Amino acid sequence: MKALTWQGRRDVRVEDVPDPRIEEPTDAIVRITSTAICGSDLHLYEVLGPYLKPGDVLGHEPMGIVEEVGTGVTRLKPGDRVVVPFNIACGSCWMCDRQLYAQCETTQVTAEGKGAALFGYTSLHGSVPGGQAEYLRVPHAQFGPIKVPQTGPDERWLYLSDILPTAWQAVKYADTPPGGTLAVFGLGPVGQFCARIGRHLGAGRVIGLDLVPERLEMARRHGVETLDVSQLDDVPGALIDLVDGRGPDAVIDAVGMEAHGSTSGKLAQTAAGLVPDRLAD
Ligand SMILES: [Zn+2]
Ligand SMILES: [Zn+2]
Repeated sequence: MKALTWQGRRDVRVEDVPDPRIEEPTDAIVRITSTAICGSDLHLYEVLGPYLKPGDVLGHEPMGIVEEVGTGVTRLKPGDRVVVPFNIACGSCWMCDRQLYAQCETTQVTAEGKGAALFGYTSLHGSVPGGQAEYLRVPHAQFGPIKVPQTGPDERWLYLSDILPTAWQAVKYADTPPGGTLAVFGLGPVGQFCARIGRHLGAGRVIGLDLVPERLEMARRHGVETLDVSQLDDVPGALIDLVDGRGPDAVIDAVGMEAHGSTSGKLAQTAAGLVPDRLAD
């Protein structure tokens, strides 16, 4: 099959690699129909090279059609349409019993002090071949894959693999009081989701901050107030002024790791430290 492989810093290539096959009774093989590129993939592209080896298959946001299941997988059958979450969790250990799937004790990479194994994400997370490929072997398929309806385009479901629940969790943790104000720093994909989910879950106002005109415009189209940080000398001050001199009730930092090296990232961090947000409690 063809798969996107890591070859070195800033060097990824589509190569022919062996087709995956069932190795454990709890495995499934999924034929990938769509797979997203994540902001986290930039870490692999740039800085996490020491934990990759040439030929590693990338990708952790896939969906597709079940081709084959092991004898231990009873909840899926060939032909099912599934989204594959990026965490690989067993569903039955101490952590999974508490819904802390990212810390699954069955798949966690204890030698590296990390949580659950992840698809396509370095030796720190198990060196599991990823989903930017024609086929994917899914370990612990008796638990992980989410069955979705056969109807609708892949884009309707694909984001359940990572960024939609990532954003949902951020909004839940931010815990904006009903009718309160939520500020979202960074309006990339996760920030856009956070802003809309914030409104969906009952924030009275959502204020999004970014410096990319298209991102600000997209947020405004969905009822989000915006601040263009490139036009402001005092971002925290502007945000506080915008909310009656008190600032927002809750803040989400969705700026992203690499971007924190930039001026806007520093501004966001500074602002997040200054405003009276509930995350600081
Ligand atoms: Zn991701
Ligand atoms: Zn587990």
